[in-house]
Amino acid sequence: MMQHIVFFSGGMGSWAAAKRVVERHGAANTRLLFMDTRMEDEDLYRFLDEAAANVGAPLIRIAEGRTPWEVFFDRRFLGNSRVDPCSQILKRRLADAWVAEHCDPAATVCHVGIDWTERHRFDRLAQRKLPWVYEAPMCDPPYINRYDILRWMKSEDLAPPRLYGMGFAHNNCGGFCVKAGQGHFANLLRALPERYAWHEENEQALRHHLVKDVSILKGGETLKALREKIEAKGEIDLFEIGGCGCFIDDDTGAA
Ligand code: SF4
Repeated sequence: MMQHIVFFSGGMGSWAAAKRVVERHGAANTRLLFMDTRMEDEDLYRFLDEAAANVGAPLIRIAEGRTPWEVFFDRRFLGNSRVDPCSQILKRRLADAWVAEHCDPAATVCHVGIDWTERHRFDRLAQRKLPWVYEAPMCDPPYINRYDILRWMKSEDLAPPRLYGMGFAHNNCGGFCVKAGQGHFANLLRALPERYAWHEENEQALRHHLVKDVSILKGGETLKALREKIEAKGEIDLFEIGGCGCFIDDDTGAA
């Protein structure tokens, strides 16, 4: 009997993928695997429990133990839109190690929440992961978008993670991401100013620690500089959101 592992991030995409997996293969053969970065939004844990109960499959939680900032300090490298040691270590390698220890490649299918809009990225991921079999149920028809998924959740009385309602594109790392752009961080500053301040302090501390002008944002702009620009009503690119690809990115560019 094939076993099905769904990488269950606490976001809407992997919930929808898990629903399709259970519909196709049954809950008895499905497990939901969550990798905790120790920097998640508090409401993610509420959603995780409720979403797993809604899917009806067992939820397995694992964590490497560090936060992304601890990884950056240890690696002496600040993640950015191109290189992401945080998701490489805290998610992709952790998941790979768990699957290698607990599953048989000949009898396991791993499922990710990537949807049809990123099919090309999934195809590269599936190729890289061979001989493990990877599938992306949300790349299959019927093709649905994030609003369809939110309506689907509502129809099942499952409250979405609160960060979506606060304007965030994803529910990872508590609304933070080293791959995010100005628009994303402007939203973090507006919606969760204390959390923004904490990330700003960490970025400044790492710059001092490395004695180097590193920054998450492109062009060497620090979170401190971005905040000051926003407070001074300067011009920023609100459409520069960036994208978190914790599960689809290659490890070749990692620090
Ligand atoms: S969401 Fe962003 S910051 Fe968090 S682990 Fe993924 S790539 Fe790193």
